[in-house]
Amino acid sequence: MTRVIEPQPGILDIALYQGGASHVPGVENVIKLSSNENPFGAPESAKAAFAKAAHNLHRYPNTDHYALRKAIADVHGLDPDCVICGVGSDEIITFLCQAYAGVGDEVIYTEHGFGMYKISAKAAGATPVCVPERERVVDVDAILAACTERTKLVFIANPANPTGTMIGQRDIARLAAGLPGQAILVLDGAYAEFVEGFDGGSALVEARDNVVMTRTFSKIYGLGGVRVGWGYGPREIIDVLNRVRGPFNLSEPQLAAAEAAVRDRDWVEKCREDNTRLRAWLAEALMELGVPSDTSCANFILARFTDQEEAEACDEFLKANGIIVRRVGGYGLPNCLRITVGDEASCRRVVHVIGQFM
Ligand code: PMP
Repeated sequence: MTRVIEPQPGILDIALYQGGASHVPGVENVIKLSSNENPFGAPESAKAAFAKAAHNLHRYPNTDHYALRKAIADVHGLDPDCVICGVGSDEIITFLCQAYAGVGDEVIYTEHGFGMYKISAKAAGATPVCVPERERVVDVDAILAACTERTKLVFIANPANPTGTMIGQRDIARLAAGLPGQAILVLDGAYAEFVEGFDGGSALVEARDNVVMTRTFSKIYGLGGVRVGWGYGPREIIDVLNRVRGPFNLSEPQLAAAEAAVRDRDWVEKCREDNTRLRAWLAEALMELGVPSDTSCANFILARFTDQEEAEACDEFLKANGIIVRRVGGYGLPNCLRITVGDEASCRRVVHVIGQFM
């Protein structure tokens, strides 16, 4: 007889967050514009460091991640003791929920917010609370109005995914100052590097005791497949997160690749410039085809169609033509498709195919 062991209540009604397919059956040379990856791949410096670190696979990795934390701290002007590294920023989000939100607690995320916030909150046993946005932009007043004495975490991505919109530093500071005493504001800066001069919220982290910033190597650094992210917060909070972190959560090749990538500032600069130029071109070309989008601050645009039917038909047409983009109906945006800014050839191709569809 098979014994059925029941999972924690509430776990199974989570819509599974999936990265999306990377191939289309029967279609060769697919262009994947669905996961906001860097179209230029990983920097050579990171590939070389990864290969070199793979010589000692029989050794357990370093557990304190000091070299990577120091590199991150040097580049961003931060205190390395307030940095924690994880398996993607997903793992930092998980640590925050595990450490700070349990049964009976509330975790706030916003209407079009990134899916992992809800999933991690539920997995920790907490209650996710969804707050409406205003025209696809995070609404600070609505978040403050939704806070209760049970609110433990508030997640905001800035720039946001999948909308690409941003809220200003003054609004963020107002939110941090207005939260109830037991709540932590998590500023998810997965796309912060695409905004020139933006610190992702690190100055606010340093000015307060209730703000944590998360960052990733998966986007501008082109290391989505390597899985490294980091968090920056008050030392007391980082100490707590380190107690839920497994000692060997990152391998030496992961650590080495990320360290090389973060020190490769020319690469980051070049990728940001290319993204800014190609994103503007893509948005304008789609607008000319009658497909508008909000101003995006990240490495994707959210293309708006007349209705869900048109968006889904366009998605099918793109797929049949070897282009994968992302449907975002699960994020409350059924009439939209999220399109990653690719290299120049991919941008031209996606515009050409959407032009044929329209
Ligand atoms: N935050 C946001 C807003 C994201 O879009 C993503 C990835 N899609 C992540 C966090 C997680 O990225 P990773 O785990 O690869 O660092």
